[in-house]
Amino acid sequence: SVGTKIQGIDPSKLTIEKTTTPKSLLPPEELIFGRNFTDHMLSLEWTASQGWLPARITPYQNLSLDPATCVFHYAFECFEGMKAYKDKKGNIRLFRPDKNMERMNKSSARIALPTFDPDAMIDLISTFAKLEKRFIPDARGYSLYLRPTMIGTQRTLGVGPSASALLYVIASPVGPYYPTGFKAISLEATDYAVRAWPGGVGDKKLGANYAPCILPQMQAASRGFNQNLWLFGEEEFITEVGTMNLFVAIRNKETGKPELLTAPLDGTILEGVTRDSVLGLARERLVPQGWNVIERYVRMQEIADAAEEGRLMEVFGAGTAAIVAPVRKISWKGRLVECGLADHVEAGPIALQMKDWMETIQYGEEDHPWSYSV
Ligand code: PMP
Repeated sequence: SVGTKIQGIDPSKLTIEKTTTPKSLLPPEELIFGRNFTDHMLSLEWTASQGWLPARITPYQNLSLDPATCVFHYAFECFEGMKAYKDKKGNIRLFRPDKNMERMNKSSARIALPTFDPDAMIDLISTFAKLEKRFIPDARGYSLYLRPTMIGTQRTLGVGPSASALLYVIASPVGPYYPTGFKAISLEATDYAVRAWPGGVGDKKLGANYAPCILPQMQAASRGFNQNLWLFGEEEFITEVGTMNLFVAIRNKETGKPELLTAPLDGTILEGVTRDSVLGLARERLVPQGWNVIERYVRMQEIADAAEEGRLMEVFGAGTAAIVAPVRKISWKGRLVECGLADHVEAGPIALQMKDWMETIQYGEEDHPWSYSV
């Protein structure tokens, strides 16, 4: 069918050209997310007539593109965000890379860019991550953020599918998101701008989804809030927070039972790997402790009511960068909804527990099918 054919990649054809000018390593405490990159990059070119050409690892370098290249005009771009971790034995591990590859293929297919064989790409990314191993400091909390990116490279102003594409992966060593411990964030419930809508592309990781969210983010920041809580519709359903999925822990009004709630995947929500993992761990480990774990529409009013009635236990964002981001308060319709954290407490017990469970798996301290040793 149109645009969905998975195209073959042969990882055994990979060529590696190593840098002759290796970068010096920064002191771990100076690593800033997405600011510094490793020595190399992984690249694959695709053409409509030849399919994927052999993959190359080369020194990290600039791209040279004609100003008329379609990516610059019509936003033929999608990307992924995933991490490589180093375990105690010094082995490199990826966390659920199949999920990222599946999502990238859905994103690229939606903008008529080519798809690829996910296993072959995981193989190539593994080789690349191993090559850059020296950039990952030996401690829990450190990792190599990997940024697979695909762009349309056809030189044309004609609005149509790109007859060529470039897929590349760059890597940025990152430190713990909370170097000095959790810091709960404040949110502005945003209703005047909408991140995604039914039938749109909010569930795809397209660059075009991100630039329009910066202005509302700046506006929220100017009013003293860290992130937007994106509301949707007249019901004011909660969707996502900044670039994270959102979880709400509430005590049920009728039964008194604790519930972990998150928005359903209806096409307006990014299908977060962390979201899926938090749900999986909660169903496996919290349900036996008496929790209900529910994917459903949640109105902002419900959260405010729960807060008012002392039933709001905690709220947190979930994403690859931070794993969890505890929320202290939400500004909504001129009032402040307090999200269950006492003064001087920066994270609730579920957020803390989830971060620990996730890291234990990511750093290979527990054998788990989600951790992929390369
Ligand atoms: N929502 C949005 C809009 C995002 O950009 C991200 C980051 N990829 C997430 C949620 C969290 O997804 P993940 O857990 O896969 O990082």
